[in-house]
Amino acid sequence: MSTPFKRDVKSRAVYQEPAPHLDKNNPFESMMERFDVAADLLGLDSGLYEYLRSPSRIHITSVPVVMDDGSLRVFEGYRVIHNEVLGPSKGGIRFAPDVHLDEVKALAAWMTWKCTVVGVPFGGAKGGITCDPRSMSPGEVERLTRRYTANLMDVFGPDKDIPAPDMNTNEQVMAWLLDTYSMHVRRTEPAVVTGKPLLIGGSEGRREATGRGVMTTTLGAMERLGMRPGQSTVAVQGFGNVGSVAAQLLREQGCRVVAVSDVTGGYYNADGIDIDAAIVYAAEHGNQLTGFDGAEPITNEELLALEVDVLAPCAKENQITSDNAGDVKAKIVAEGANGPTTPHADDILNENGVLVIPDILANAGGVTVSYFEWVQDRQGYFWSRDRVNRRLDRMMRAGFDRVYDAAERYDTSMRIGAYVIAIEKVAGALKLRGIYA
Ligand code: NAD
Repeated sequence: MSTPFKRDVKSRAVYQEPAPHLDKNNPFESMMERFDVAADLLGLDSGLYEYLRSPSRIHITSVPVVMDDGSLRVFEGYRVIHNEVLGPSKGGIRFAPDVHLDEVKALAAWMTWKCTVVGVPFGGAKGGITCDPRSMSPGEVERLTRRYTANLMDVFGPDKDIPAPDMNTNEQVMAWLLDTYSMHVRRTEPAVVTGKPLLIGGSEGRREATGRGVMTTTLGAMERLGMRPGQSTVAVQGFGNVGSVAAQLLREQGCRVVAVSDVTGGYYNADGIDIDAAIVYAAEHGNQLTGFDGAEPITNEELLALEVDVLAPCAKENQITSDNAGDVKAKIVAEGANGPTTPHADDILNENGVLVIPDILANAGGVTVSYFEWVQDRQGYFWSRDRVNRRLDRMMRAGFDRVYDAAERYDTSMRIGAYVIAIEKVAGALKLRGIYA
């Protein structure tokens, strides 16, 4: 079938300019670099390339809030819809002082690829408000959330665009968003948002979903490499929502988790750390492991260089860099965090034969259960935790196999394989639908 899109190399150059706020170490620009490699591998024509790099819509809105002291402040809010070719757009909302449009645009694109890789029928979006929620009272944050939602009433909707929590937004913020939207449409509409409390239409298993996906994809990689969980050692960087659950579930699968870490440093025990005890300890000590006596202290750098089979960076971006990638001895790196490996570090890991399960696959468990939450809300029928977990495992495993096979087919890394799959699918859908003129 001939495509209605012509190759035009000139326009492509225009889109290779980095956006003003995105430098080389910015994880989102790094993501776009990988997108470019995959697009080249596929021989994507420049019209499609432009289309897929550009957001479909950008909404910027002023959000006025009466503060507790009676003063009026106006915050800037964004919602970027990157792509809706495969379904309604999906993505979190972040509240932070450094939120800016370029970041939101890049994160929206990231969501398109992440959903597509695991077969979730959503497009990508992201939202944010430039504010410092830590200096605001709960009442101020509530008014901010409600006015932002009211301003974007025509954008959000269960069949249009479905927000979720992100940095500094939580279940309570999603509950306010749900309530505001529902007041405007004169009916309760739980499916307009995911990541909300269980009591008002949230899903079982959502909290553990991202860590669970890290576990499932790691098991997939072990199987492909002929490794047995019972004979494998693991180190996990980051002991928050993603890292602690990934560590706990990998241990349940028989792995020996010899090291974990958080912002206070690393903790090592060659015999294996009692992860349940570490979770209880962190919960009782301000979510930190300082003073945990089930392991000896090491540095985060030492953790990354440990002689282990699996390394799971589950803390933050840019942790494995060109400076330390050569020290990584793990056979598998499972990226629970977003953007933990820089592009140059990626090259080093690939040269050294390390199998990297890329973030857009490894941590896609969260968005997968968000999709399940949306399905349950629309059905008005809620699943047991077992059912959620079984379906999550199935989708993550299928996603892993698709990406692994694409990497083999194109003789490339799993990261580029993941982008290849995402681009192929979105571009294929776009060609079928055609361009409405
Ligand atoms: P979190 O805040 O619950 O936990 C972060 C953990 O990392 C904490 O234990 C913190 O102490 C630790 N940490 C911070 N800086 C560190 C450092 N320099 N060295 C070692 N540890 C450090 O966050 P989370 O929800 O677990 O998210 C972690 C990562 O996973 C982020 O990159 C996030 O974007 C990504 N992610 C999270 C989800 C989700 O559902 N929570 C989904 C997809 C991706």
